[in-house]
Amino acid sequence: MPPTTKPLTVRQFFGRKGLLSEWHPSYEFRSGQLEMAEAVEGALREKKHLIVEAGTGTGKTLAYLVPAILSGKRVVISTGTKNLQEQLYFKDIPFLEQHLGPLRACYMKGRANYACRQKIYDAEKEPILEGLEEVADFRVIREWEKTTESGDRAEIKTLPESSSVWAKINARGELCTGQKCTQFERCFITKMHQVAQKSDIIIVNHHLFFADLAVKGGPVGGEAGGIIPDYGAVIFDEAHDIEDVAGQYFGVTVSSYQFDELARDVAALARRKNFGSKELDHTLTIAGDRAAQFFALFGAGDGRSAFRGQEAFLIRNEELYRDVLAALEIIALNLELVHAAPEEAIPLVHRAREIARRLQFWMESGERAYVYWIEKRGRGTFLQATPIDVSQLLDEKLFDAIDTAVLTSATLAVAGEFEFTKQRLGLRGARTLVVPSHFDYAAQALLYVPQSLPDRRSPAFVAAAAREIVEILTHSRGRAFVLFTSYQQMRQIYDRVSFEIPYQTLLQGTGPRNALLEEFRATPNAVLFATSSFWQGVDVPGEQLSCVIIDKLPFAVPSDPVVEARVAAIRNDGGDPFSTYQVPQAAIALKQGFGRLIRSRSDRGVLALLDNRITKTRYGQIFFDSLPHYAFTTNREDVEKFFER
Ligand code: SF4
Repeated sequence: MPPTTKPLTVRQFFGRKGLLSEWHPSYEFRSGQLEMAEAVEGALREKKHLIVEAGTGTGKTLAYLVPAILSGKRVVISTGTKNLQEQLYFKDIPFLEQHLGPLRACYMKGRANYACRQKIYDAEKEPILEGLEEVADFRVIREWEKTTESGDRAEIKTLPESSSVWAKINARGELCTGQKCTQFERCFITKMHQVAQKSDIIIVNHHLFFADLAVKGGPVGGEAGGIIPDYGAVIFDEAHDIEDVAGQYFGVTVSSYQFDELARDVAALARRKNFGSKELDHTLTIAGDRAAQFFALFGAGDGRSAFRGQEAFLIRNEELYRDVLAALEIIALNLELVHAAPEEAIPLVHRAREIARRLQFWMESGERAYVYWIEKRGRGTFLQATPIDVSQLLDEKLFDAIDTAVLTSATLAVAGEFEFTKQRLGLRGARTLVVPSHFDYAAQALLYVPQSLPDRRSPAFVAAAAREIVEILTHSRGRAFVLFTSYQQMRQIYDRVSFEIPYQTLLQGTGPRNALLEEFRATPNAVLFATSSFWQGVDVPGEQLSCVIIDKLPFAVPSDPVVEARVAAIRNDGGDPFSTYQVPQAAIALKQGFGRLIRSRSDRGVLALLDNRITKTRYGQIFFDSLPHYAFTTNREDVEKFFER
């Protein structure tokens, strides 16, 4: 079909006899899609902010993409995942281009997704590769680099997610010499910026968006200047994730890995440029020792814990702490004196001082707007400072600074209201809209809440829940996700259930997430046991996923340092954290988890919640009112009948 002139309004596009009805092979008129598109169109035109909850199956991607294109403004679209980013760029944009003609659109990812040409060329000359696997991966990358336009690693399908060679040649900023690099003109990052400058639609993900927003004058300093060009409006898809991602980038992290990587990169540069010396080796060894001693002060074992009493800690450990800062400064000074490769040493100088600056902030700033906490993961220790409340920061840096922000997701409203989202994100004056789903939930899904299970805190719960799960899986013939709120409970129940059912079971943690998902999709009647990382962004349409079982109402862990600080802050302000924060947050999380089941109009299945607080407490009604209108039962026989039908 030849390109058509652009439609003037979204009604001409999405209406019953609109352009979409002519173009789309499986077109169905969806009044919700038109309603959402008109709301986005209005917000862009009238310079308003808008929050839209659009149920699964609304067709929300086109409902914001088309008005964004028609607006004539430069619009940034930010997604929760790289998958959605790719779907927009490689599927939705080309579909529209077939009919509207070429669109000026691009996608941008974080620098670590792109190859650094200079590092690839250096790697050919210098012995940085270890083992046959790295040599084989490097060969693939080297050949691909000759022809790729984008330099985005997603193009190399065969490269493992955890490729160690990619970590050595990616374009992350810490080792980039910018305009001094001989490859600057051909650099994939330069090219990404140039394309973005000429684009009207820029597709990013939340991590890149907030990393960019934070460096454009973040709360605790940082380099000036972001990478996303100026824009007139932003649309957040999967907007329920914004608070967490913004908190991450408006916060400060300093980790033991940052010290290790700095020492490794300095040593590698010294080897490559022949400026190594005994003094430098000694400096790096001392810095490594001091950092190891310092991080050892925070104890062993995995987990997250609050860090209180900075002052007393500083008094006790002042000497060691000052030694660590001094070691970083000595590394920086050493590098400043290097004449062999000044342009390559400068990013390392900046990095050493940036680590020192973050550490000083964490140890000494005492800013009360932040919660200070420690995370131990594997061999790493992460010292974190997270803003307790991002609403003011978002208001100042984002919502006040641009004409239009549109936030959309299938899960933003609690019992039909947006108070929680507005309050958490500082978006008080926004317009709001709930677009009901296109699905017939009452016919397609049955919500089952068994009444006889013991209290979830009782020791008898695990055995009883495992028995109940076996019964449900027998009726559903596997084909299920069993989702847990804690890793420990997942393991305990998995150990009991996996031997009792004749279906293949998959357990989170036994393989990479995507590999587990692929296996689930490919294995008839499989059952996947998982925790929070499978509660969202997972799409398994069709019969293969016919049942989702959730162990508990997904309240955030109250002892988590960030949750604890947020709860305390609301209480200190005279608010009720349970009703204004904890219940709404859990209602949205439950809606996300159950949202895995019904992904198309032909899907059907059972949702089981093994936590009868939803039927026995007053606040339980808020959960019911937040979920789609599923059929409901407390009787397992109805589950059996549902699957027999
Ligand atoms: S400009 Fe930076 S990222 Fe680009 S090729 Fe050079 S060193 Fe690599």
